[in-house]
Amino acid sequence: MSGHTDMILVDENGIRIDGRTVDQHRPFKIEAGVLNNADGSAYVEIGKNKILAAVYGPRECHPKHMQNPTKAIIQCKYNMQTFSVSDRKKPGPDRRSIEISKITAEALENVVLTELYPRASIDVYIEVLQANAGTRCAGLTAASVALADAGIPMRDIIPACAAGKADNKVLLDLNKEEDNFGQADVPIAIVPSTDEIVLLQMDGNMTRDELDKAISMAMGACHELYDVQKDALKRRYAKRVVEVETDE
Ligand code: UDP
Repeated sequence: MSGHTDMILVDENGIRIDGRTVDQHRPFKIEAGVLNNADGSAYVEIGKNKILAAVYGPRECHPKHMQNPTKAIIQCKYNMQTFSVSDRKKPGPDRRSIEISKITAEALENVVLTELYPRASIDVYIEVLQANAGTRCAGLTAASVALADAGIPMRDIIPACAAGKADNKVLLDLNKEEDNFGQADVPIAIVPSTDEIVLLQMDGNMTRDELDKAISMAMGACHELYDVQKDALKRRYAKRVVEVETDE
């Protein structure tokens, strides 16, 4: 997020470098239940972002000193593959992946009924296969579908989308160039049934009015993404019913 580039990110007609208008998000694609060996899983594409999420649990939490006697803990690991970006990413955790893992787990704690599973751990793995800005939002979106696919009781599922600012315009769902050279990036995640905000971060600078507009744009996109999440889970459920009927 430098805010300085010779590149025109939004032209005089309000068209962005990838052809979108300022209030248009990238295409969404979600599949639930893509991995056989995880308890729940999901694959999400948001534009050029490609993300896999896998869930294990609830299972007994190890090491035992991490157990909470009143509820399950959610342990999240966000990881960017070395090949996910054009400059090879150094493998292993870094400050950024530790931060994203933490904010993802904290957002999910708002919807997962952890109190049903004292002393347990629910483990969420997010693997970024290809990144093009917005991976924390796509990862959280995938993780909540994977949790639902694992049959873990939840109040709701969480969609997440960013908005931001580039060339002095408020934009929905920033791509990599807009994220790198724009003026602000605001990732947001919501609980759609209540419109409660469970993730709100901000990198860069915006006026209060611009921030209000960014939040409202991102929340609108979250509601659209929520429908795509629900469709993925319905397709997965229909497929399971067919599998059970064929086995009988
Ligand atoms: N990125 C990268 N190398 C890194 C970290 C990030 O190339 O080590 C790119 C990647 O495309 C990522 C984008 O920078 O999606 C924006 O990163 P940010 O930290 O803003 O998180 P995100 O927008 O992915 O949630």
